[in-house]
Order: sequence, then C-alpha cells, then structure tokens
Amino acid sequence: MVRSFLAIDLNRETKNFLDHAMGHWQRLPCKIRWTRVENLHITLKFLGEISQDTIEQLIPVLSSRLSGLSPFTLTLSGVGAFPSLRNARILWIGFQESKPLLNLVKIVEDLCAEQGIPREARGFHPHITVGRIKAGRSVYQKILPFFTTPVPAISMGVSKVVLYRSDLFATGPVYSQLAHFPLEGNL
Ligand code: ATP
Ligand code: MG
Repeated sequence: MVRSFLAIDLNRETKNFLDHAMGHWQRLPCKIRWTRVENLHITLKFLGEISQDTIEQLIPVLSSRLSGLSPFTLTLSGVGAFPSLRNARILWIGFQESKPLLNLVKIVEDLCAEQGIPREARGFHPHITVGRIKAGRSVYQKILPFFTTPVPAISMGVSKVVLYRSDLFATGPVYSQLAHFPLEGNL
C-alpha cells in the first residue's frame, strides 16, 4: 500500500516568501515543527493508503480529465490554524477564493470516488501547512505573532497537479512524485 495525495506545487516566489517568514516564526516560544521548504504544497486530496492497482487505475483517468482543464492563478491571503485559532495544531497560509480551484477539487473528488477512494467528509480549505504544533494546547498567546503576520498577495500560476507518495519518518515526511497531470485545456 502506498500513502499518497494529490497536490499543487508552489512557485519559487511563494516558497521564498514562506521560507523567509518561517525564519521569523522560528522565534515563537512554542514547540513547532516547521514544514521543510521543499515539502511546501497545497493538498487537493489526501488519498491515504491505496494499492498499486488503484494508483495505476487512477493515473490515466486523472490524466485525461485534468488535461482538459485550463491553467489558473492562485493568490496568497491570510494565515490561520486548524482546528481553530484557540486550539491550534496546524498553522497555515491561505488563498483568495478561487472558482477554478474549487472546480478542480470537485472533479478530483469525483474521479477518486469512482476508483473507490472515500470522499473527503470535511469542507475543502485551500491552504499551505507551514507548521505543526507539537506543544500543549493553549498556545494561542505564544503564537499570536504568527496570526498577525501580513501576507503579501503573491500570485502563482497553476498548470499541473502532482500525485505524491508520502513516506513518514521520525524526522518528517518524504514526498516523492509518482505522476503529474498538466492542465492544458481551454475550459
Ligand atoms: P506528518 O503526518 O508526518 O506530519 P504530513 O502530514 O505532511 O506529515 P501526510 O500525513 O502523508 O504527511 O499527509 C500528506 C498531505 O496530506 C499533507 O498535506 C497533509 O496535510 C494531508 N493530509 C494528511 N492526512 C489527511 C487527512 N486525513 N485528510 C486530509 N488531508 C490529509
Ligand atoms: Mg499527516
């Protein structure tokens, strides 16, 4: 079985900003595992542990459907935490609302469901996970500077979706690309 997920890669400018910002946030008085720059991404769909057969069935289906979609633009906007600010476990940077992104996620969910992969029960909140809080629960005051960070409206073009394998290690996850799906249509 292969732990895998579908994601959007970030452009260099976005990664540079996040790298710089994470450098500042290192000073927060709280135990946080910051995401390694090479691992920063937007998750479209967490596939979980799926079989090699499922992967081989999914690749051509995604490839043909996604190739008909056109590239689009995403713009950074705001910071936040899951499950909530007061009970922060995951620190994230968000995006401005994007209809093409929601459309892409819907298509991906439908295609994955056809291959027997369970649908995401929670709503989709496009985000980049930048840190995971490893300390106690009431850390809101300690991480307040994170929530007050201004996020510049950096835009990036999205012209492909990537299928990643995720191998979890004590030192953090290692993602490796299994396939990529260009968006090269004009719809
Ligand atoms: P770690 O689990 O070691 O903290 P990670 O979360 O980056 O590392 P994975 O758990 O393999 O690695 O997750 C890969 C991607 O899928 C991440 O973006 C993660 O946020 C997302 N993800 C993981 N589990 C779920 C889930 N149950 N529902 C939705 N997205 C998930
Ligand atoms: Mg995880």
